[in-house]
Amino acid sequence: MFGLSKLFSAKSVEKQPVISALSEYRSAAFAIGIEQHFIDAIVQNDDKSLTISLNLPFAAQSEMQQVSEFLIEKLNVPVSIIAAVKITEPAKYKTIKHIILIASGKGGVGKSTTAVNIAGALKNEGAKVGILDADIYGPSIPMLLGLVGSKPTTKDNKLLQPFMSDGLKAQSIGFLVPSDDATVWRGPMASGALTQLLNETQWGELDYLIVDMPPGTGDIQLTMSQKVPASGTVIVTTPQDLALADAQKGIAMFNKVNVPVLGLIENMSHFLCTHCGEPNHVFGKDGAEKLAHKHGVPVLSHIPLAIDIREYSEQGKLIANDINAQVSQTYSAAARLIASTIYYQQHHNAVEIVITED
Ligand code: ADP
Repeated sequence: MFGLSKLFSAKSVEKQPVISALSEYRSAAFAIGIEQHFIDAIVQNDDKSLTISLNLPFAAQSEMQQVSEFLIEKLNVPVSIIAAVKITEPAKYKTIKHIILIASGKGGVGKSTTAVNIAGALKNEGAKVGILDADIYGPSIPMLLGLVGSKPTTKDNKLLQPFMSDGLKAQSIGFLVPSDDATVWRGPMASGALTQLLNETQWGELDYLIVDMPPGTGDIQLTMSQKVPASGTVIVTTPQDLALADAQKGIAMFNKVNVPVLGLIENMSHFLCTHCGEPNHVFGKDGAEKLAHKHGVPVLSHIPLAIDIREYSEQGKLIANDINAQVSQTYSAAARLIASTIYYQQHHNAVEIVITED
């Protein structure tokens, strides 16, 4: 990342203490610290401060402020970090590094809202991201991204151009098929439409493609999940018993087709009182944890029931992009954890994930 001339002109610096301090950094996303092979360069500036350049193998740029504060404390010198997301493993599917399925056992739990905000948060963490709306029963990504009424375009009469919304590439089955038709779809038709949409969109290079799956665990979802080489799936649920029972069926389905379940997201987890700020567990507490323990998967995030999440959605804007909204931090933390879980699953088999309060 630094030019060679800069590296050579810089004063030689004792790298080992920096490397070992970086390895001691811990957070939910960096469960085993900043590994040595993430380091691109360590440069000591004339005023003795350090500039460290990192190549992150998963999307987690926003955590670098915390990492530099940790290093300043450890090393007692000013530190600045320049980090770029560089996923080095080969693309799993054409020009797409990782495909992540966002699923739910039942409708109305906030799957699409979560999918689109996680996509936005991954992009804000420095990754190249696309979202594919495969929810044939109720494609809502065009509405959530303010793209209603847009028409698909092509440059070569063969491939569709993805829609662009705040740096996210998007494609939706809703642009192509009238939603009434979906009620008569069967598994092979739906999975055929999904693979066609995936294949025939000119995505360009993507680090992550988020797929908003149709809710449920039937034949359609099963054939769809078999058709896509996904790195993992995230199951969105609410704390209610019924939604949890359906999420359980989802876990069983993905196990059957060997798609790793990265974890659960508990949406509408609690209501934050607008007066006192206290969390109120309207739909019950710890349900997702119990389910997660039973199946040996982590709970990746607890997203509150928040009026502004719904309001932003209705305006076709992503709350994940508003750094002043409290819940945007929650989506960012979830995005980093999803990205790092994929990395750890592929590079270190299983790492015990530490879930923090954010
Ligand atoms: P699904 O994709 O599971 O059918 P949606 O994402 O369409 O669900 O969400 C259903 C409704 O719930 C929408 O009106 C959405 O704005 C709202 N919603 C989703 N998540 C939240 C949340 N955490 N807080 C408040 N409203 C939410």
